[in-house]
Amino acid sequence: MIKDNTVEKVIDESQQGSALSLDNNGKNGRKLYIESYGCQMNFSDSEIVASILAKEGFNTTQNLYDADLVLVNTCSIREKAEQTVRKRLEKFNAVKRTKPNMKVGVLGCMAERLKSKFLEEEKIVDMVVGPDAYKDLPNLIQEIDEGRNAVNVILSKDETYGDVAPVRLNTNGVSAFVSITRGCDNMCTFCVVPFTRGRERSRDPQSILEEVNDLWERGFKEITLLGQNVDSYLWYGGGLKKDFDKASDMQKATSVNFAGLLELVAQAQPKMRIRFSTSNPQDMTLDVIEAMAKHQNICKYIHLPVQSGSNRILKAMNRLHTREEYFELIDNIRKIIPDCAISQDMITGFPTETEEDHQDTLSLMEYVKYDFGFMFAYSERPGTLAERKMEDDIPEATKKRRLSEIIEVQQKHSHYRTQQHLGKTQEVLIEGTSKKSDTHWMGRNSQNTVAVFPKEHYKVGDFVNVKINECTSATLIGEAVGYSENN
Ligand code: SAM
Repeated sequence: MIKDNTVEKVIDESQQGSALSLDNNGKNGRKLYIESYGCQMNFSDSEIVASILAKEGFNTTQNLYDADLVLVNTCSIREKAEQTVRKRLEKFNAVKRTKPNMKVGVLGCMAERLKSKFLEEEKIVDMVVGPDAYKDLPNLIQEIDEGRNAVNVILSKDETYGDVAPVRLNTNGVSAFVSITRGCDNMCTFCVVPFTRGRERSRDPQSILEEVNDLWERGFKEITLLGQNVDSYLWYGGGLKKDFDKASDMQKATSVNFAGLLELVAQAQPKMRIRFSTSNPQDMTLDVIEAMAKHQNICKYIHLPVQSGSNRILKAMNRLHTREEYFELIDNIRKIIPDCAISQDMITGFPTETEEDHQDTLSLMEYVKYDFGFMFAYSERPGTLAERKMEDDIPEATKKRRLSEIIEVQQKHSHYRTQQHLGKTQEVLIEGTSKKSDTHWMGRNSQNTVAVFPKEHYKVGDFVNVKINECTSATLIGEAVGYSENN
């Protein structure tokens, strides 16, 4: 689970850059190859893009050489993520030389950040489409078919794609992402997201419920509600979160916040497991934790990035909470949900970070003892407040050393946390065959820890009670003792 590269959150590294493919429609004559990088949101967006293009006559292919249209859904979060995409474009260029009719489009955050500059910098790119412009793809494709380059990077006030039924790509048929907010208003000084994904807006709870109900009917057993900052979810009839003040009294009285949405989803499908990501400490409220405690189908796991343990650095990052307030939130979580797993994102080597600040991060980690962690060396991003106002003054070697120190501490804590599961019998939802053994299933417990156990007669999608006998720092090893009540 420990990463210091382009990979985000719980996305399996092996998924990065994977080409998505779906059931083909016999009437469709053109072939789309689509690759995704970065966060879960991007993978979810690619499902929306594939859905829009399926109606435009495109079947997906996993073979790049077969494609009429190649799309790459990109990530800008760190420089390395962008370099990976540039390398991929070199590969597409080589293929295009042998297939001059093949068109290449760049989607997502890099498209938004670089806009038409992309067409100058990467000569092979025919089309540049930002994250809010996917509904315009049919027009843009017509443009490139007629031999013109096409760009749409307009960010929207209200686009949530709530009316596009995403096609599930590369699915295990068990877990699916459901997008609930787009954009971010937090303006963390290190982060490019507000510039690439625009202002924050929430999706109509009715369309979220319809999607969740539809997934349940199609056999899915677990959903993850997705957003850059899910706790900030606020539906009041549409529009930007920042404009809530201007809403009518009626809109305010009937508004739905994240705790309210969790309740609605948990009640609509009481046997479906519900997860969510990402939470921001400054926006997470007690009613969310109480909703989690109240519904057994809401998984007991919170991804709660803190980024630094130093009050001075938190302030410089514009994270609007202190270390003490974060501890208070952690204490409340542990009081209300004693068995709740908590994970972090951490950045080392933010401008001006001293050894003392770094020690504060290590001591914060000691206090929380996170179950998992996603740790990164600071990467300066053009256009962010940190880039404009602060010098990237921490030497790479120092960033790397501090990163390896926090990774080491996280590994120790991950092992401590997996050991707490030993001897217990826990419900595991089977997702597929274990990577290491064909005779074992792999699934997760409520706390999001991976468990493996002998297959016996169980099958993918079953909820099984598993007795945990052994563990590593990342995996629980056990044996099934029967179906759980949820099955
Ligand atoms: N919205 C979430 C939040 O505010 O915590 C997550 C946003 S981001 C997509 C995922 C993670 O990437 C962040 O939590 C942060 O740890 C890391 N990240 C973002 N910008 C970065 C940068 N400039 N350099 C290094 N890591 C960065």
